Amino acid sequence: MPALDLKTQLSNLVDLQKIDSEIYTLRSEKNAKPNEIKALEDAFEEKRQSLADIEKKSLDLQKQRKEIEIELATKEENIKKLQVQLFQLKTNKEYQTMLNEIAGTKADASVIEDKVILVLEQIDKTKVEVEDEKQRLQGEEKLLNEQKKNIENRIKEIDDRLTQLDAQRKQVLPGFDPKILTQYERILLNRDGLAIVNVNNDSCQGCNLHVPPQVINLIKMYERIVICEACNRILYISETTTEAERQ
Ligand SMILES: [Zn+2]
Repeated sequence: MPALDLKTQLSNLVDLQKIDSEIYTLRSEKNAKPNEIKALEDAFEEKRQSLADIEKKSLDLQKQRKEIEIELATKEENIKKLQVQLFQLKTNKEYQTMLNEIAGTKADASVIEDKVILVLEQIDKTKVEVEDEKQRLQGEEKLLNEQKKNIENRIKEIDDRLTQLDAQRKQVLPGFDPKILTQYERILLNRDGLAIVNVNNDSCQGCNLHVPPQVINLIKMYERIVICEACNRILYISETTTEAERQ
């Protein structure tokens, strides 16, 4: 098979670049997927944590309720004891002091009763919160699983397409001059999957650097591969661009 001229080689490289650009885009998309999944899982974990916080609050309130109820029972016990003692007292003064003490303890108990009511209200409110949060979390979990499934489906789609592109690539590779191919692939690897770029309006489409006329002439001579000074990519001038520029 006779070696292809450089112009044809470059034109074939442009076709190969189309395949490689798609491969690069798809691989980048696929590489970003694990982070996407992690971000979704982290966000869900945060919501699960907020449920755990409310459940903890609920437990604390139950504990608080028990403590207050014990406190109340102690006061009531005290009142009963004082009332028994009341009848054993001899003097009017002692009797009056004891009555005052009983009244004071009753007032204390009444304050504690109010506290019990308050805590019970909070317990009821928190129960509703826990139920709401559980339900919301269930919805969130369903959504998370759907989103993960979608991402997995997309990864599978990408893999299938990558297999196709890889096969296409293998088919066209034998047509290339190995030296040119090696150079192309090295640039591809170092320059974000873009190795060969068009010169449009006298500027490199890889980095926008101005391409001087003598370099443009050099490209059009097709004697050797011309590289952009700034981004090191292979430069070419597409026939359609030249047509458009002429008009
Ligand atoms: Zn450039």
